Order: sequence, then C-alpha cells, then structure tokens
Amino acid sequence: MTQSLMGKVAVVTGGASGIGLASAESMMAEGALVVIVDRDETALAALQETYGDAVITLPTDLLDTESCAALIPRILEKTKVIDIFHSNAGLYVGGDLVDAENDAIDRMLNLNINVVMKNVRDVLPHMIERGVGDILVTSSLAGHYPTPWEPVYASSKWAINCFVQTVRRQVCKQGIRVGSVSPGPVITSLLSDWPVEKLDEAKRSGSLMDASEVAEALLFMVTRPRHVTIRDIVIMPSQFDL
Ligand code: NAD
Repeated sequence: MTQSLMGKVAVVTGGASGIGLASAESMMAEGALVVIVDRDETALAALQETYGDAVITLPTDLLDTESCAALIPRILEKTKVIDIFHSNAGLYVGGDLVDAENDAIDRMLNLNINVVMKNVRDVLPHMIERGVGDILVTSSLAGHYPTPWEPVYASSKWAINCFVQTVRRQVCKQGIRVGSVSPGPVITSLLSDWPVEKLDEAKRSGSLMDASEVAEALLFMVTRPRHVTIRDIVIMPSQFDL
C-alpha cells in the first residue's frame, strides 16, 4: 500500500455493506480516516470494533429528512474537514413497472436522487471554501443503457448521471472534482431484489463482479494528481450481455 490518502478524511454513505464497504476499506487501506454513514447500526458496530480508530461510524437513516439535513454539520463537528465524499447509499426497484408500489418508488427515488443532491449540496460550501475536494457518486450501468427489467431504478441513475455532469461543470474551476462510477451487476445484498430470471442468467454467464473491483475504480479516481479528473467510469463484467 502507498498510503496515498494519509491525513485525508473520506465519507462513505451506505458504507456498511457492498460497494460502500469495499470503498471505505480501500480508502482506509490507503491511510484515510473514513466516516461510514449507514442505517444498519449492527453492521456499523461490528465495523467500529474491527477497525477502531481508522473509522468513525455514524448510524443515520438518510431517508429521515432531519437526519439527512444534519449529516454534513455532524461530520464536520467530528472531523473538521471532508476531503472525499462518496455518495453511495441506494435502493433498488426492479421488475415490471406495473408491479412497482408507490412506497418503493418514492423511497428509491428519494434516496437515489434527492438525498444525493442534498448531501452534495451541503458538503460543497466546505470544499469550495478550502478550494479542494472530491465527490464520488455510485451510479449504475443502468444509468447509461435503458435496461428494460428495471425502468424505475434506471431512471434514478440517469437522473443522477445528469446531476454529476452538471455539478461538475459548475464547480470544476473551484478545485472540486466530481466523478461517478457506474457498475454492472455486483455481488451485494442489493442483487437479492433483482428479478430472479435476470439474476440466474447473470450467474449462468459469470456476469457478476466483486465489490472490490468497483472500489479499485473509485480509488483510482481519488488518487490521481489534482490537475487530473477522471470523470466517470463504467465498469461491467466482460460477459454481460445487455
Ligand atoms: P447494499 O445493499 O450492499 O448496500 C447499500 C447500503 O446502503 C447498505 O449498507 C444499507 O444499509 C445502506 N442504506 C440503504 N438505505 C439507507 C438509508 N436510508 N440510510 C442510510 N443507509 C442506507 O447494495 P450495493 O449494491 O452495495 O449498493 C450501493 C450502491 O451501488 C447503490 O447506489 C446501488 O444503486 C449501486 N449499484 C449497485 C449495483 C449492484 O449490482 N449491486 C450495480 C450498480 C450500482
């Protein structure tokens, strides 16, 4: 390890499992102090036990309006700075549109779009004031291709890709890099909500990635020299046939 993030503070939302956890662990391995934000208190307690002073765990339900609004001030109170903000927490709604329930649509759109926008909005003034910062967003391959088995989810990721690209253009002259990673299917708990036939097909063709492969792409983005921005990475299994 090169310890290239020594002295940096990184925040990962939805960091208690899957892609977020892999991202948090890879940044910790490079020396960053990582703040893990998640609603899963049990998983956070186990991570605090495992990683000790290398992490700060913040139990937070980002779908709770007040908790979401308090997030960035709460973190800054503890760490004083935020160098990297990885907005990763997301929900999935797949299958036929006619089967999608109101509550599931609302919660997913709220977390995958509104919460990302609000968290990024809230952390930006701090980064702009310092003239430095990295914002990463976990999007999805579904945000680039109209995947017919998940119209609601795909729409949320198309929206967030637009957000990433427009915010980047707004703040790029102020020392802030904004990038996204768009993975194809990754073995995480989120896949348990995938349509069964789609998941079986992906398993049969070996079209699943490990979360650590996505974390490597994210780490690559934040460890470039500051005059270089890696804008967006699409990372997918070679065998995946859309
Ligand atoms: P995951 O379910 O393993 O992780 C999601 C984490 O977010 C969990 O720890 C969960 O507790 C947390 N979370 C959920 N709702 C929350 C809330 N309201 N407040 C705080 N934390 C909350 O799933 P994952 O696959 O690692 O998903 C992470 C991101 O990756 C999501 O944005 C997802 O859309 C994206 N993604 C996943 C895949 C895939 O195939 N797994 C592919 C492309 C993109």
